[in-house]
Amino acid sequence: MKTAWITGGSRGIGRAAARRLVQDGWNVAIQYEKAEQAALGLKEELGRGCCEIFRADVANEAEVRRTAQQIRERFGKIDLLVCNAGISHIGLLSDMSLAAWERLFAVNVTGAFLCCREVIGEMVSRQAGTILLVSSMWGLTGASCEAAYSASKAALIGLGRALAQELGPSGIRVNCIAPGAIETDMNRGLDEEARRRLVEETPLGRMGTPEEVAQTIAFLASDAGSYYTGQVLSPNGGMVIA
Ligand code: NAD
Repeated sequence: MKTAWITGGSRGIGRAAARRLVQDGWNVAIQYEKAEQAALGLKEELGRGCCEIFRADVANEAEVRRTAQQIRERFGKIDLLVCNAGISHIGLLSDMSLAAWERLFAVNVTGAFLCCREVIGEMVSRQAGTILLVSSMWGLTGASCEAAYSASKAALIGLGRALAQELGPSGIRVNCIAPGAIETDMNRGLDEEARRRLVEETPLGRMGTPEEVAQTIAFLASDAGSYYTGQVLSPNGGMVIA
């Protein structure tokens, strides 16, 4: 059985991906930062046999290393890494503190680097593996009042494209997913006006669901996605991206 390591997997898109991957026959290692109860609930739901939870901050090098080791001890190997953990920041760049900027990049970008670094060695030696980086539509277009978030998500696209070239000869596929506006806790803070505008700008006329993003993750992880690498797939309801 193949094993997927999903960061930020206790809720939202990560949780939907975990559910979907288990349906598709994967073992899932769920890394969560704080939501212990949610993570335990998901483990119960998915079944102790194929799901294990690991508490770690993706921005912490030692915790990420320990998590990778624990996953290997539990499941033997890591076939798929889904770098999904992320935080957002809404506000004018001119009002943003250096600490907030650094934390956002530590979680969204350094976190992905640390997790990728942990899996690449074993994937290269097996000449197989898949890495998925959850970026954002804003990483492609940029978004007003989300400059730092947009920059961090654009960095993931650069990372994904470069790694795809670096690791393709070793049989490892690396792709990015750049979702549009998705109904998760991340968007709970949006006011009514901002939500209305997002929905209005979306040709399908609604926000997406975490399950719809999970389908893209499952596709890219599956044999159906076997010739995709270095790509950015954007489940976004039809937003036009220049
Ligand atoms: P969410 O806030 O529900 O999920 C984010 C997850 O990341 C949570 O489980 C959180 O605990 C985890 N996390 C945050 N900091 C962490 C850390 N330091 N260590 C470990 N885990 C940490 O929101 P979501 O929408 O499910 O977001 C998942 C991913 O999708 C994020 O990378 C986000 O940027 C991206 N995304 C979301 C949307 C959207 O509209 N919701 C759109 C595009 C991209």
